[in-house]
Amino acid sequence: MTRAPRRSATLTRAEIVELFSRLRELNPKPTTELEYSTPFELLVAVTLSAQATDVGVNKATRRLFPVANTPAAILALGEDGLKQYISTIGLFNAKAKNVITACRILLDEHGGEVPRSREALEALPGVGRKTANVVLNTAFGEPTMAVDTHIFRVANRTGLAPGKDVRAVEDRLVKVVPAEFMQDAHHWLILHGRYVCKARKPDCPQCVIRDLCRFKDKTP
Ligand code: SF4
Repeated sequence: MTRAPRRSATLTRAEIVELFSRLRELNPKPTTELEYSTPFELLVAVTLSAQATDVGVNKATRRLFPVANTPAAILALGEDGLKQYISTIGLFNAKAKNVITACRILLDEHGGEVPRSREALEALPGVGRKTANVVLNTAFGEPTMAVDTHIFRVANRTGLAPGKDVRAVEDRLVKVVPAEFMQDAHHWLILHGRYVCKARKPDCPQCVIRDLCRFKDKTP
């Protein structure tokens, strides 16, 4: 009797292409669920979204952005004025402070524009590597990969880009994701993790990449 060849723990290049082709077929034009219409709005929304849901952030920004959606306008609101719009969001005191300081820096150092550089973005208060990656990728189309808890889980379970921490997964994803998928890979993986490959009980029977996935504890 001949045995089927053992699969490697990580996906092959052909399997990675297949994985993203299937996710793309399900959702050809994925985007963030945060609502925004300018790079600055995206930057504010992502900053507010730390430890908060996209739905909660959208609720707040739907009121805030029509009133103030530029660094100058938010500065004019002041910290207390801003808090009135975002008080339903977790950690809103610290976030209001950070957004106000960031607005001041954007005006003083970047002509009121969101900079298209990782270094300048990460120099803003409340903006870490993940937020910078989201802004660079979603607002400016740079091939960066913001690894959140969903992407970290999916990358490890499937064998797409296993790594012990988010930075290791990020570096590996940037290396293995084929260029044609790089722009949207971030969103496909987040959505897959959020709605199918869920943390406690992944929905393996409904999963379109089940046959490719290396996870040992797939749900029946
Ligand atoms: S088969 Fe299950 S564990 Fe693997 S990616 Fe799909 S949902 Fe996640």
